[in-house]
Formats: sequence, C-alpha cells, structure tokens
Amino acid sequence: MRVPLAIVGNGGAAAEAVVALRAHAYAGDIHLFADNQDAPYNPMLGTYLISGAIPLERAFPFGDGHRFYEDHGVTTHLGQAVTALDAAEQRLTTGDGSAYSYDYCLVATGARPAVPPVLGLREALAAPGGAQERRVFTLRSFSDAAGLKETLACLRSRPGEPARVAVVGASFVGIKVASLVHDLGMRVCLIEREPHILPLSAHPDCARPMEDHLLEQGYELRLGAALAGVEMGPFGVRLDFGALPGAADPSGAKGTACEESTTQEDVDLVVVCAGIRTSLDLLAAGQVDTAEGILVDERMRSSIPTLYAAGDVAQGKNLLSGRHEIIGSWASARYQGRAAGRSLAGAPAGYPGGVPHNITHVGRLLFASVGCIKDYDRMTICRDGNSLQVRVWQGERLAGVNLLDCCLNAGTMKQALLRAATGAVTNTGATWISFNG
Ligand SMILES: Cc1cc2nc3c(=O)[nH]c(=O)nc-3n(C[C@H](O)[C@H](O)[C@H](O)COP(=O)(O)OP(=O)(O)OC[C@H]3O[C@@H](n4cnc5c(N)ncnc54)[C@H](O)[C@@H]3O)c2cc1C
Repeated sequence: MRVPLAIVGNGGAAAEAVVALRAHAYAGDIHLFADNQDAPYNPMLGTYLISGAIPLERAFPFGDGHRFYEDHGVTTHLGQAVTALDAAEQRLTTGDGSAYSYDYCLVATGARPAVPPVLGLREALAAPGGAQERRVFTLRSFSDAAGLKETLACLRSRPGEPARVAVVGASFVGIKVASLVHDLGMRVCLIEREPHILPLSAHPDCARPMEDHLLEQGYELRLGAALAGVEMGPFGVRLDFGALPGAADPSGAKGTACEESTTQEDVDLVVVCAGIRTSLDLLAAGQVDTAEGILVDERMRSSIPTLYAAGDVAQGKNLLSGRHEIIGSWASARYQGRAAGRSLAGAPAGYPGGVPHNITHVGRLLFASVGCIKDYDRMTICRDGNSLQVRVWQGERLAGVNLLDCCLNAGTMKQALLRAATGAVTNTGATWISFNG
C-alpha cells in the first residue's frame, strides 16, 4: 500500500505535527503508526497520574479517546509498531509484516527508558505477572504508569511495615519517582552511580544541600553505588552492589539512614530511572545521518529529503551550545512537531532550536536547571537564606544556571541565557541585572 504521509509514533511531537498539518490546509491522507492503542499521552504527567494529583484525562492533552485522530482525519494503525524503515526506498514495515510505501515520513518515536547493564535486570523487567508479581518497572508510557500505580496500590494495602522501594538513577525522573513513593508513605532508597544526585543537571555545590534535605526527610541515598545485579524471589527483589573503582563502599550508603555497609539489599519494588535512549532501532543502518538521535535542520528535515523527525528522537540545535543535541522535553517535542507539520504542509516553518531546562521538587525544595553546568571556566555561587544560585560561565558567556528555592526566576534566567547566547545581548552582566531587576 502507498500512503502520502506516514507518521511513526503518537506522542506530543506527532500530535502537534497532525494539528499543524491540518491547520495549514494539508488535505492529504495521514497514516499514523503507534506501538500502543492510546491517544497521544504526556509522559511527564506519569507520576501525577499515579499519585492521583491529576485525573486520567489530564494525561491525554489532545483528548483521551480516539476523537483526536478522527477529528483530524488521521488513519490510525494503533498497536502496530514500525519495525523497519528503509528511508532510501521510502518503505516501512510493521510488526505484523505489513509493508507501506510513503511519499513523506515523520519519525516521532520519542525515547524509551535506558536499561543499564545490570545482571538480571532485563529479565526482571520483562517478567510476566499481575500487580502482585511485577516488582521491577520503568516509567515512560501510559501502560508503565498504569502498571506501577497498581503495584504501588498493592504494596500500600499490605499489612505491616511500609514497603521499601529502590529508585535506580537520581535523574529528574528518578527524583520525581522517589518523591512520589515517599509521599505515598513508603521507604525510598535512591541509588545513583555518580557521586551526586541529578548528575547531569545539578552542580555538586547545589546537589549537596538537596541531598542533605532528602536525608532529613527520611530518604536513603546510595550515591556512587554500582548496582551489579537484581534477583527476584520470595524476599521481593534482591539488589547486588559491585565495586566502582575508587569507591570506599560499593553500596554508596550516605547519611545516618544507612550507615551499615552491605553489598546486598532487599527491596519490595525497583523503578529504573537511568536516563533515556532514543527510539531509532527501526531505521535501516547507514542511510540517515544520526548521532544520538536523527540529525535535523530547522524544518525538521533529516539528511534524506523525504524523512523528517521531531521530538525526543530528533537532534535539533541547542541554542546555547550551538551543537545538535537531544533536548528531551515536552515543550521542545511539541515545538518540533509543530515545525515538522508546518513544513510538511508547505507552510513557512522553522524551529531554530531550544535550551535545556527543567524544574522539579526535590523533597520540599524546588530546583531548576537552565543550560549546561558541566563545562565551564568560572562559576559564581550566590546564597540568600535557604536559596542558592549557581552560575557557570564559558569565557564571557553565561552557560548554565542552577536555582534552588528561587525558581520563580527560572523563566527569566532562560531568557537571559538565550539572549546572551544568540547575541541579542552581548553584555551578560547587564542581561543578568536587567532580567533580575
Ligand atoms: C516520568 C517523566 C517525567 C518527565 N518530566 C518532564 C518535565 O518535567 N518537563 C519536560 O519538559 N519533560 C519531561 N519529560 C519528558 C517529556 O515527557 C518528553 O520529552 C516528551 O514527552 C517527548 O515527546 P515525544 O513525542 O518526542 O516522545 P514520546 O512521548 O516518547 O512519544 C513517542 C511515541 O511513539 C511510540 N513509538 C516508539 N517507537 C515506535 C515504533 N517503532 N512504532 C510505532 N510507535 C512507536 C511510543 O510508544 C510513544 O507513544 C518527562 C518524561 C517522563 C517519562
């Protein structure tokens, strides 16, 4: 079968592309392929959905039935993962063996949770079973959130001591999951390979007070901890810690909550939050320019003119670094999807790029990160009562900011960095003052 436009994926990027296509008078057929049966889902609301902070329908920002697809004249192939995409031949194949030729294709397959190379972890994640039996999860899709919610409810209804949950990876997602579990009254053990929480986005000087705060709140922290194996059993899940070079204690115990140094721990549940991997496996090797994701220009075109990409799978421009990078955020996915839709509809389009930024509660503290705090020549720290600002500079350019408990400034900081990086303002000192004034 030949289709004029194939969209692979049904997240925020795909949905925005559909909206933009129809808004710009694209009248052709749109065939959308998804490996699930859902309406476009917002993964960043997973923890709120599980805690009950939002109702089910809020997690589906484009509507929670299939009305969205019908209203926009989309022919859906739901539950049909695209398993192979030959961009040179303009052909895709789905899991049931059906083949489709296309004129244009938008890849909006997003990303999936990374699974670190831990003995027994993949098997434990794939193990069948209901809410009582499943004890190892990742959190990305709606079905992940629904499954985790059910298992947490089972553990909460169990008599006796509160359940103990290990969160593997103190990433933004890991911190959100740890907070969810803690607020549900369970014990949390946050395990991180690096010596500090939020290793990709928090400067150690900002991470330390957050770690102290989490310990005060009763979280267990295992930092610099090398998780080597997981084993399912009647005890729940047994975690084996190996040795990291230079680590005094392989279990990474920190603080008063876990002073004994052991190399095995039993927990009731494990949630793996160790980063993401872009969903690129469908692409035939060597055809399209890729790095971590599909490299795209401002119109979301890949190196093959008939293939577009948007969202977490696409590597657009980071306006601060000037490099093509994955900016895994809901807003970025939507902007890119919109640009792809306009572009495919033949309307003027261009998404020049984005800025990495994120904000989350860490216990009761509010933490925001804008830009990159990894490579810098100089840093400044500003403390005001309980609030903290870390700013890092590359030469004269402000490259990244951490804000702790003063996050109302996050939006203005982002604008300041952007203006400085894109040359709209050359004196960063003035930018900083004017944006804070
Ligand atoms: C717990 C959590 C918290 C987050 N918090 C934040 C936050 O605070 N702020 C923020 O900005 N962002 C946050 N994010 C990230 C944000 O949700 C993503 O960046 C965004 O949703 C990416 O959208 P997307 O459309 O590119 O990809 P996705 O939402 O991943 O959608 C891709 C879709 O394609 C489907 N698919 C994949 N492969 C195939 C295939 N081969 N065939 C068919 N279908 C396929 C997938 O199942 C999925 O439904 C969070 C994410 C998570 C998981």
